[in-house]
Amino acid sequence: MLIDVNAILSDRVLTMEESATLKMAQLARDLAAKGHKVINLSIGEPDFDTPEHIKEAAKKALDQGFTKYTPVPGLVELKKAIQMKFKRDNDLDFELNQIVVSNGAKQTISNICHAILNEGDEVIILAPYWVSYSEMVKMVGGVPVILKAGIETDFKVTAQEVEEAITNRTKAVLFSSPCNPTGSVYDYEELKEIAEVIGQHPHIQIISDEIYEYINFTGKHVSIGAFDAVKEQTTTVNGFSKGFAMTGWRLGYMGGPKWMADACSKIQGQVTSGATAFGQVAAAHALTSDLTPTYKMCEAFQKRRDLVRDLLSQIPGFKVNNPQGAFYIFPDVSAYFGKSSAEMTIQNADDLSEYLLAEAHVAVVSGSAFGAEDCIRLSFAASEEELKDAISRIANAMKSLK
Ligand code: PMP
Ligand code: GLU
Repeated sequence: MLIDVNAILSDRVLTMEESATLKMAQLARDLAAKGHKVINLSIGEPDFDTPEHIKEAAKKALDQGFTKYTPVPGLVELKKAIQMKFKRDNDLDFELNQIVVSNGAKQTISNICHAILNEGDEVIILAPYWVSYSEMVKMVGGVPVILKAGIETDFKVTAQEVEEAITNRTKAVLFSSPCNPTGSVYDYEELKEIAEVIGQHPHIQIISDEIYEYINFTGKHVSIGAFDAVKEQTTTVNGFSKGFAMTGWRLGYMGGPKWMADACSKIQGQVTSGATAFGQVAAAHALTSDLTPTYKMCEAFQKRRDLVRDLLSQIPGFKVNNPQGAFYIFPDVSAYFGKSSAEMTIQNADDLSEYLLAEAHVAVVSGSAFGAEDCIRLSFAASEEELKDAISRIANAMKSLK
């Protein structure tokens, strides 16, 4: 008997977009498996390995018997380290019961969406935005309100634009700084102004995704939750994936109002229980030990930023920003829309990404996944050799478009 799978699957999954970053990464792997030399600049993942001392701490924790369930919101030892880190790096004060550890910052943000959104509630998402925000909001019935900035303002919105986007359905404002996909960093003044606007609406929550905090080339990271105007209404999200090169460990966390932490913990208690025990011990070690390996990675990313920015800006028609953090660059490539190769016409950034994978064997992600149809995202978490090779392949592929 033929089964209609679509009649079985939920509307939720049928209307949901697949993660564009993960999809491109898989397409790149598939092409490489066929024997092609693919350069994968699609996924946002440090190419460095987790620092040795953190791996050693995990091995030791395993031997010490950290192999059981932990408390749902996390081991006290890790929560104490996070509490110390929030104070040390962000000027944020949290009690231990205001902190929840999850399986990656992805789960942290998903928990928060589950915790506060009812059908029809609006979340203002500062765009370009990380792919998963809009889908996570939609998954729980919320409505993403995309507030978009272009390359001419370094992809940053103003406080006034935030104010204008607020309605009586607005539940939260969600953004990342340093930003994935643009690398833009909101500075002290810009965040202060946004905080002052949102502070006028005490029921609106700020979800501040600071996962790229340690990859910041401006020298100083600012947390919006540190402004008095929004102290009580900000949940700060962070994790270990980027700053400590620990993507596969799946560890993220939040600090926010106690009621938010309680809600996230309640949700997590029914879904995943808690994060891996021995990983949490190693994560505590990561935060409390010397951050030199993290700073070294940041220096390497800054060098690569300079390299890719300079090389990409030499490609005719590419408009390039100067990322101040994270490891992405987000050129506006709209000058090529309407041009054709022998095989295809490039109508948009999706087509161009497809063309670059097929023609140059370079995987990038279309800006449409991030709410910016004119751009493509390249991750520069790759070696300088690979980056040079990739950009020279891209430049050649662009020359063939007429
Ligand atoms: N936020 C942003 C902006 C990201 O780029 C990522 C990377 N996947 C995440 C959150 C989630 O990170 P993780 O789940 O690996 O902690
Ligand atoms: N944050 C990374 C990216 O944007 C990892 C992949 C993902 O989880 O989306 O590529």
